[in-house]
Amino acid sequence: MILVLKPLVTDAEIDSLQNYLTGRYSVQIHLSRGVDSVILGLVGDTAHVDIEAVAAQDIVERVTRVGEPYKKVNRKFHPDDTIVTVGGFPIGGKQFAVIAGPCSVETEPQITEVAERVKSAGAQFLRGGAYKPRTSPYSFQGLGAEGIDLLIKAREKTGLPIVSEIMSSDALHDFDDVDIIQVGARNMQNFSLLKLLGTFGKPVLLKRGLANTIEEWLMSAEYIMASGNENVILCERGIRTFETATRNTLDISAIPLVKKLSHLPVIVDPTHASGIPWLVEPLTMASIAAGADGIMIEVHNDPPRALSDGAQALTPDQFDAVSARMREVAPVFGRTI
Ligand code: PEP
Ligand code: MN
Repeated sequence: MILVLKPLVTDAEIDSLQNYLTGRYSVQIHLSRGVDSVILGLVGDTAHVDIEAVAAQDIVERVTRVGEPYKKVNRKFHPDDTIVTVGGFPIGGKQFAVIAGPCSVETEPQITEVAERVKSAGAQFLRGGAYKPRTSPYSFQGLGAEGIDLLIKAREKTGLPIVSEIMSSDALHDFDDVDIIQVGARNMQNFSLLKLLGTFGKPVLLKRGLANTIEEWLMSAEYIMASGNENVILCERGIRTFETATRNTLDISAIPLVKKLSHLPVIVDPTHASGIPWLVEPLTMASIAAGADGIMIEVHNDPPRALSDGAQALTPDQFDAVSARMREVAPVFGRTI
């Protein structure tokens, strides 16, 4: 349920309305101060709320029920775009965020070289997997805690905030010093992990599941927000379809759609979406045009020898070329980069 308040309400009036509501009903209140309006979003047992009595309160302009099952994620709760700022770099808003790095962290020289190259190309964040979800148990599983340590060293050298994937709550303590925690496609509906990350408080990059609907994806984001963490970034990374020419099928329409339904930033991973290095540039351009807030691209210093996903990685030189195109195209769509 949404209460849009009258313009120019004071903090004291808002407080007293909140007390009125929580005193009568078993609801939690989410306050959003937008550019043009103040909104109270109610979640919980709203079925018992007497709409007419609430609408009759002095400072309430109108009351509406929210039909969608996601509430805190819903743009109706928070009309302005959410901007998640990490290490001084905003994700969301006018800025176009660029995250780049290898699929897996492998060695110190590898991650350092990639970090330096993607930074000089203009990336603001370094990605790298330390815990890897692999289809085969015989494939490289990642360096684990050692991989996180190598990412931290690369951050010390370059200043780039780091993004890495968590696969299980058992490893949570390894993520104390990680700037953005990625939840991969395969864990999008690991609800206990989502709840835990809601209380952990670090920004979460939530990838869309391989075969999940937009509503399921938004409900997973709702789990994180309902547990108290508002810093959620959504990542469209392609979905599974009948098509086999690409690794997945990039759902371009998900970008404007999710941005209409939700206030959360939406970024795109064209690397896992296509699995094909030369498709990364056109899909990046399409993502910018569709309104994405950023991009996450896999880059490896020596793709043929990569321990995971080498076939889809860009070389640092190829990433330079894609970055140059991003700098040309992003401003055309009103983005700074
Ligand atoms: C990754 O980012 O390396 C990864 C495993 O991605 P996804 O969860 O989208 O498959
Ligand atoms: Mn990968």
